[in-house]
Amino acid sequence: MSQRDKLIEMNRRDFLHIGLMGATSTLMGGNALAEAVQEYAEKAPFTFPPPVYRTLGRTGLKVSVVGFGAMLTPEPEVIRVAFEHGVNYVNTSRKYMAGKNEEIVGKALQGFRHKVFVATKIQTELNTKEAIIKDVEASLKALGTDYIDIIQLDANADKERIFRAEPREAFTLLKKQGKIRFCGAAVHKNPTDVVNAVAADPSRFFDTILVSYNFKSGKELTDAITRAAETGLGIIAMKSQVGGYATTALGGLSPHQAALKWVLNNPHIALAIPGMKDLVELKENIAVMGVPLRAADQRTLRIYGAAVQPYYCHLCGSCEEGCPRGVEISTVNRSLMYAQGYRNPELAGATYRELPASATAATCLDCSACTARCINGLDISAKMAQARQLWG
Ligand code: SF4
Ligand code: SF4
Repeated sequence: MSQRDKLIEMNRRDFLHIGLMGATSTLMGGNALAEAVQEYAEKAPFTFPPPVYRTLGRTGLKVSVVGFGAMLTPEPEVIRVAFEHGVNYVNTSRKYMAGKNEEIVGKALQGFRHKVFVATKIQTELNTKEAIIKDVEASLKALGTDYIDIIQLDANADKERIFRAEPREAFTLLKKQGKIRFCGAAVHKNPTDVVNAVAADPSRFFDTILVSYNFKSGKELTDAITRAAETGLGIIAMKSQVGGYATTALGGLSPHQAALKWVLNNPHIALAIPGMKDLVELKENIAVMGVPLRAADQRTLRIYGAAVQPYYCHLCGSCEEGCPRGVEISTVNRSLMYAQGYRNPELAGATYRELPASATAATCLDCSACTARCINGLDISAKMAQARQLWG
């Protein structure tokens, strides 16, 4: 049996009737009930829901509200199953899987290219026009396509980057050549400021913004997103499931559907791109399309939110002012999230290694007392020590 046939067969016989599981799990606690639901879920067939689409801001693209975050997926067939069921947006990056992720997405696109919107990112450290053009051309080759729908410039550590001339010149030229259709910005750190800056840009150079947004986000970010969407920016949410941390606080049941529903409950979010590594995760996420956020979901999120509080970094960056040595605490913490939440050591290590040595947790070794303070109560010294344990 081919890999594809195996997946289709799994698709028929496995599993979790995720929609029922998500709704029911929120009503109960305790392992006995969880096991009962699991047993039911394993016997019930899964029906893919009809896809739901929203308009991605001024791009005018009609995108499925659940897009495919491809960063965790080693298997193109999983992405193809999503495409077959109406998911029409896939997000990748040269950085994921040391460049292999774009090739995996390229394989998934075969026969679907005309139906699916492809977004990728240029590599964080590139700033010159020449290097950016080369990078996009490498992405086109890896993806096996002659155009990218949305090319994203990562404003991660430096919001000024989105205003620099050379990336814009590179994107303008690539657009003229038909190699890219729309330009997006992407932001992890200090998202409120960056969303505000992109929205206030009078040139309206960027059409979309990819931003970390979830039920732990503050009102300032929600307000910034509202204003940005009103200017016509297409808003794409990432980190929608708060880092995907496992918790036993819900009796072993997943809170991730409730988290995704919370994000999609905001009409200014065009789509979310949860990372999905296999069919179980695809089904868990896709089942959310068109399902409203209910009071039971809010209860689930309160429990989940409390459980991840000691780990979850909002990536706001506000602690960094308190570090005299310039450690990029939020990026170190994001690397830890990839390691501990996503359980993706490659991505975690690659993100950590993007930092200059002086901005890593190694710098803390000869610091006598940590003066950085987390406004959300995280123990920064302990987090930096965890990073050193993982990456030296
Ligand atoms: S211990 Fe704290 S203040 Fe010192 S270098 Fe590390 S993060 Fe900065
Ligand atoms: S450690 Fe705290 S203050 Fe620093 S970026 Fe994370 S949530 Fe913000």
